[in-house]
Amino acid sequence: MIYYDIHTHHLPEHPEDIAVLSHIVSIDSDAFQSDTEQIFYSVGIHPWYIKEEKDQVSVCKHMLSSAKVIAVGEIGLDKFADKSLQEQLFVFKQQALLAEENRLFVIVHCVKAWDELIALKRELHAKMPWIIHGFRGNAQLAQQLIREGFFLSFGEHFNREAVRVAWPNHLFVETDDSTVDIRSVYDTISAVLGVSVDTFASQVAENVHKILLFPL
Ligand SMILES: [Zn+2]
Repeated sequence: MIYYDIHTHHLPEHPEDIAVLSHIVSIDSDAFQSDTEQIFYSVGIHPWYIKEEKDQVSVCKHMLSSAKVIAVGEIGLDKFADKSLQEQLFVFKQQALLAEENRLFVIVHCVKAWDELIALKRELHAKMPWIIHGFRGNAQLAQQLIREGFFLSFGEHFNREAVRVAWPNHLFVETDDSTVDIRSVYDTISAVLGVSVDTFASQVAENVHKILLFPL
């Protein structure tokens, strides 16, 4: 059984687990933390850390060429961030276009800006998968987002009904900045769904493979 952590800020507790480490441009150092086989990266400008936009976007663009990078993110819209939503939209857009160009999936951070996020996805006709990370919304919001083509990633805290909506084809698992072991998140979510951890893990593995080979 292989465990996949689709979005995290730290190395996995079990080195054999596969993790997508989030690299925040201008916050994390320029070098990647690890070059072991199980560790992959997402690179992006988080809405809390937008500073020198142009420089950051070009650093991001450069880093995406590394073979270790399999996603753009986390990028997003956050109504509690210092930068205006307009600026955040501008930075998000440029990175979403880089994801399309490089055929990478996107890890999305969204706080209270769902309408704007949906509108942006429609406007860009984005074809690459957009995964909303740390999803804690309810079943209704989950349904709406899945209808719009989004995928949802769940961590330590989540809405049980929303997990049922995303299962089986739109669901991913993550630890984000929590120190919880990805394996215990697998245990919790599979228990909520009433399926064995084995069944759950093989479905998550299938979902991961699908987004990596996403056809344009
Ligand atoms: Zn994160």
